[in-house]
Amino acid sequence: MSPTVRAYYEEEHAIQSTMFKVDSIPDTCPICHQGIEPIKRFGWLEKKNLCLIVQCPKEACRVLFIAHYYEPTSRGFTPLETVYQLRGCVPRKVKKKVFHGILNIFPEFIKIYNQAKEAEERGLKEICGAGYRRALEFLIKDYLFRLKGRKSKETKETRLGTCIKDYIDNQNIKDCAQRAAWLGNDETHYIRIWKDKDLEDLKDLIELTANWIHDEHLTRRIKKNMPEKKAKA
Ligand SMILES: [Zn+2]
Repeated sequence: MSPTVRAYYEEEHAIQSTMFKVDSIPDTCPICHQGIEPIKRFGWLEKKNLCLIVQCPKEACRVLFIAHYYEPTSRGFTPLETVYQLRGCVPRKVKKKVFHGILNIFPEFIKIYNQAKEAEERGLKEICGAGYRRALEFLIKDYLFRLKGRKSKETKETRLGTCIKDYIDNQNIKDCAQRAAWLGNDETHYIRIWKDKDLEDLKDLIELTANWIHDEHLTRRIKKNMPEKKAKA
């Protein structure tokens, strides 16, 4: 059964209120991202848009946000027969992707990646892919000169594809980075080559590349700290 909400509206210069059916009540806070049953504060109907002001009940959050509903094309005869459809909630805080272990080594990569994620979550699907592609370039180039000792200027000036093909010796990093670059190029060019792949695949490959870099970095650090077996005291 559809939930109902009370909303006010203006009719013939008077404020009226009635109950409206909605398809759902938001179950996640757009600010703290926790699962919630929001507190309903106020509803207003303006033309075909129903706005519901609700509040996050979590003590550490308590943020008020607006759930936007629109009137479906097939409406009922009375307000209560029409089921308004949830379109989204504002304001929305993007949940940042955290790359554990490499946070301090690749701050630019993480910054660009999260800006692309924000663009994606705001529905800017046509441009966020180019952002992810740029994040990948920062990850690879910073990896090469911060962790692999390549010259900074030369690395920055070399094409990403060449950096991956000629400078990366770890096969796992190379395989994932190469494929991420192929999909990344699809996001920036007019013609798409990998038609059966999408943004999710690109993000998976970037994440895998970052994970392999993290594993390599961690393994090298452990080996450096524990170079050989200790003799019994
Ligand atoms: Zn919250």
